[in-house]
Amino acid sequence: MTRTADKPQVLLEHHLRVLKLPTFLAEYEKVARESAADGIDHPRYLLRLAELELIERERRLVDRRIRAARFPATKSLDTFDFMSIPALNKMLVLELARSEYVIRNENVIALGPSGTGKTHVALGLGLAACQKGFSVLFTSTASLVNRLMEARDGRQLSRLQAQLASVKLLIVDEFGYVPLSPTGAELLFEVFSQRYERGSTIVTSNLPFEEWTGVLGSERLTGALLDRLTHHVHILEMNGESYRLKHARNRRHKAAKATAGQSDPDTGEITSP
Ligand code: ADP
Ligand code: MG
Repeated sequence: MTRTADKPQVLLEHHLRVLKLPTFLAEYEKVARESAADGIDHPRYLLRLAELELIERERRLVDRRIRAARFPATKSLDTFDFMSIPALNKMLVLELARSEYVIRNENVIALGPSGTGKTHVALGLGLAACQKGFSVLFTSTASLVNRLMEARDGRQLSRLQAQLASVKLLIVDEFGYVPLSPTGAELLFEVFSQRYERGSTIVTSNLPFEEWTGVLGSERLTGALLDRLTHHVHILEMNGESYRLKHARNRRHKAAKATAGQSDPDTGEITSP
């Protein structure tokens, strides 16, 4: 008898590696034991392995998309407290989390003052889109414009533009904190223009539309940019109190109550030790 006939596993494991079926490889013996114990036939045994392989493959793909998206933090809508921002249309956010607007190349603009959860919602929608299978890229406006200017100086602009146009969902955070140079504004406009009806863009801003001219520096450019961005758009109005400030205040309040040994108004418990 040949050595391989003695040890079919050696050859099998080699083939599974070549076929790039790592989950088959890792699980086939364990699932075989389970299948034997449960009296499961061969087709069902193979089906079980194929299912495990598919689940793992999808998980790895989602992980890869999340890494490629360059999120500054992983935040999901599961940890977003809609109660603390009544102005926000919760139903709309949950609908957007289904990511169907991405298929329709529609945009989302989240508007509101600092600390109201715009970035959190944008991150949550970005994560949801990754899980639904779309390519995503997250960037702040400042860093996007910097990258564009650098690419232009290094004669790499069209390459970067092609890359930015090909991502299915581009998230441009913090539009409005810094006024842009005329070149910067022009380059940002081109990004939105090249994505128009070809991909989805999420923009977050602390400024109402009337004040966007102050950032872009030109009425004409602002009009053209808003025209493209808002043609198919979902607006998230996020007017409210800063979540950070409110929570810092609540914490101070609770700490003060605790030292005074009073009952907590939220729980009715005596909060002193
Ligand atoms: P913005 O981008 O509007 O300035 P952020 O999204 O950065 O605000 O929110 C500030 C901080 O508060 C973040 O850590 C965010 O996760 C948290 N936060 C804001 N709103 C909520 C909310 N409704 N529920 C849970 N966390 C929130
Ligand atoms: Mg933010």
